Amino acid sequence: MNPQVILVTGANKGIGYGIVRSLLTSAASHSIIYLTSRDVSRGQKAITELSTIGGRSSNLVYHQLDITDEQSIDTLVNKIRNAHGRLDVLINNASIAGTDNELMVDVNYYGTLMVCKKFLPIIEKEHGRIVTIGSAIGHLAAFENEEIRNQLGNPELTIEGLSALMDKYKADCKAGKASENGWPMAYAVTKAGQTALSGILARKYPSLLINVCCPGWVNTEMGASMGGKPPKTIDEGAIIPVRLAVSDLGGISGGFWENPSVMDIGSGSISVW
Ligand code: NDP
Repeated sequence: MNPQVILVTGANKGIGYGIVRSLLTSAASHSIIYLTSRDVSRGQKAITELSTIGGRSSNLVYHQLDITDEQSIDTLVNKIRNAHGRLDVLINNASIAGTDNELMVDVNYYGTLMVCKKFLPIIEKEHGRIVTIGSAIGHLAAFENEEIRNQLGNPELTIEGLSALMDKYKADCKAGKASENGWPMAYAVTKAGQTALSGILARKYPSLLINVCCPGWVNTEMGASMGGKPPKTIDEGAIIPVRLAVSDLGGISGGFWENPSVMDIGSGSISVW
């Protein structure tokens, strides 16, 4: 049996690191797990830590990957194509928060889009999966502007239409009109962009399982930056993403998965986006 090849973006720390650590015990024993990071030294430090845990660390492979850098993505696509012939599971975990709204769109939305577009040609055609770590903060209900909300939730939305919406948000930010025009905070806009993207890809590639989830409120650098003490550990934050990556989903694709509360440590269920 061919080994299952799984790739996690932004896995040097936080939830991505938790996902890799959990996959080392929950993925099939022959799986090969690519831990990737934009910064090589931070990624290698993570690999060193995980290799002392024992168990199945020999299945762990490190590779640099900056989701905003086309050359970095191409290099890894080629490496995986040459080494394994395909990728079975792509886990889009990398994202940023902060105060630079336009950068957030470029990393969270456009970076995730570029990774998906470049890896899709090598994703296993019959059983391949894409899991994106979105957020409940990006629920459609966060959008006061009905027109934007309807466009995002439109089942006929295309990648071009979604990118045009993200560009409109950037233009509104530049013009200082984002909140006047009914956009929520930037992070929510980009997370909604990721969720809409996941839905579009699920419709476009019906043989794959393409899902997005909210991991809950997790104690990471980003989670703590939201104010207060996040209640969940990175292992708890990894529960839903790992389920979507390797468990039997009964064929469900195009879903937004979450727990009833961001504090809950359940394994998630399909929710209204
Ligand atoms: P962290 O900030 O702890 O980790 C983010 C990871 O993304 C880091 O490894 C970071 O690398 C990486 N990253 C950032 N930019 C890039 C890039 N251009 N290319 C590759 N990697 C990049 O965040 P979390 O672990 O908390 O978040 C993980 C995911 O979960 C994100 O998608 C986040 O939006 C989502 N999420 C988190 C929640 C929480 O409560 N923590 C709640 C809901 C969703 P580096 O170390 O180099 O900066």
